[in-house]
Amino acid sequence: MADDQSPDMPADRGLPSHQMLIGGDWCDTETGARLTTVNPYTGEAWAMVPDGRPGDVDAAVAAASAALTGQWGSLTATRRGGLMRRLADLLRERGPELARIESRDNGKLLRETSGQLDSLPDWYDYFGGLADKLEGATPPATKPDLFTYTRHEPVGVVGAILPWNSPLLLMSFKVAPALAAGCTVVVKPSEQTPVSTLEFARLFEEAGFPPGVFNVVTGGREVGARIASHPDVAKVAFTGSTEAGVQVMRSAADHVARVTLELGGKSPNIVFGDADLEAATSGVLAGIFAATGQTCIAGSRLLVHRSVHEALLEKVVARARTIVLGDPAAPETEMGPCATAEQLAKVEGFVDRARADGLTVLSGGRRPEDAALARGYFYEPTIVTGASSDHEIAREEIFGPVLTVIPFDTEEEAVAIANDTRFGLGAGVWTSDVKRAHRVAHAIRAGSVWVNCYRMLTYNMPFGGYGMSGTGRENGLEAIREYTETKGVWINLSGESRDPFVMG
Ligand code: NAD
Repeated sequence: MADDQSPDMPADRGLPSHQMLIGGDWCDTETGARLTTVNPYTGEAWAMVPDGRPGDVDAAVAAASAALTGQWGSLTATRRGGLMRRLADLLRERGPELARIESRDNGKLLRETSGQLDSLPDWYDYFGGLADKLEGATPPATKPDLFTYTRHEPVGVVGAILPWNSPLLLMSFKVAPALAAGCTVVVKPSEQTPVSTLEFARLFEEAGFPPGVFNVVTGGREVGARIASHPDVAKVAFTGSTEAGVQVMRSAADHVARVTLELGGKSPNIVFGDADLEAATSGVLAGIFAATGQTCIAGSRLLVHRSVHEALLEKVVARARTIVLGDPAAPETEMGPCATAEQLAKVEGFVDRARADGLTVLSGGRRPEDAALARGYFYEPTIVTGASSDHEIAREEIFGPVLTVIPFDTEEEAVAIANDTRFGLGAGVWTSDVKRAHRVAHAIRAGSVWVNCYRMLTYNMPFGGYGMSGTGRENGLEAIREYTETKGVWINLSGESRDPFVMG
């Protein structure tokens, strides 16, 4: 995404221009400033959106606050759930179009974005179904003539700040439970991929949601920073880099807002000697080369038992060399470009430094020579060996198609290497021994462990990280609690006054 005020970007190039949605109105920012979004496959600008300002966040938060106490707040939970299910039906119709937009915005394969959009309505059906099942409790009275009960009330206005890699999926992780809980939302999509969120916003209007329930403010980090620091935002749901997440948490602390953070990862994919090597090969590829490695759960560290190290690497390298790079929209393409020029430069930097440090680049390690790919931000599927666990390539999140391979000799060593990270988002375990599968799954400090599979996510399984990978959980029954306040109500049934100097 480029700032439209830069000299090499003329103000009006006939690109499709989008507006933000604030309080039911489609609008531009007051100054008229725009951002231009770039197609990573062609490197060309393809759409423009408002470059929002903190004042736009203020307006969106005011609209969201008004909706909380207005029409939305007075709907029954069952009606709220009904609107969410209507939204799911509309999403089923418009999914293919939204998937195409998303591919153009972030360069992900159409088969990946289509898969995500196919499953997205389930989030709104599932959480819509939960809306009227948020029941309180009536704990037994601990004193005569006392009646106590609890209520789960919406936490208030939710600010959702999002990255570029899976815009609508990661947004729905937040918006679906927030709406089910009765909250209203202000969404800030990534400045690199704002268009699918703006198109998605139209479905809220069509489904019949009252104005102000779902607001979108486009723009850069200034917009995100205002959401995180806004005193009327009761909860910030953030997905993005660990660095930005820490700043969001600090800002939210100033007004004691709730925070869920879904941050980076350096996830281990562990292959034991007794694993099915064909299946493991495919799981290793899914972990690091699917989505060009631009996923928070990328299995970027391959830990392999020494007995199968050579055999597995032979298979993984052979398959990596045949991965088809190309147009994200073409059905035969297996890997698309990196999402931005900066991301490509970051990936190149990691591999160049690894080479300079004497590590072995077994395959890839450069931009492809194919002239047809020259305009896009492509990098070859890359496999690096020889790194110890303390090398930056084994420790830092690269967010690109770079796999670091580390051998191990015992189960204990594998677990120790797997846990030797500040992150803890995902992990893969490949073994045919059911006892080992459970032992290792329990020993690894990560929010999701996949046994003989990798990169699975659904609406009803909790998702989140240990350590610097984040705090809180999205998806599953627990997620809705992240968007509610529990209130205890105490009723004195006796009608008598009590001793003012005795508690309880
Ligand atoms: P990023 O942190 O640069 O940006 C994410 C969002 O935060 C953007 O909308 C950005 O404008 C905004 N932002 C940036 N700085 C901010 C600040 N100081 N205050 C408020 N908002 C701010 O991340 P990105 O480059 O868009 O995405 C890649 C990162 O996201 C990777 O680190 C990846 O691991 C992480 N990610 C995590 C998950 C997960 O669920 N754990 C999923 C996808 C991506």
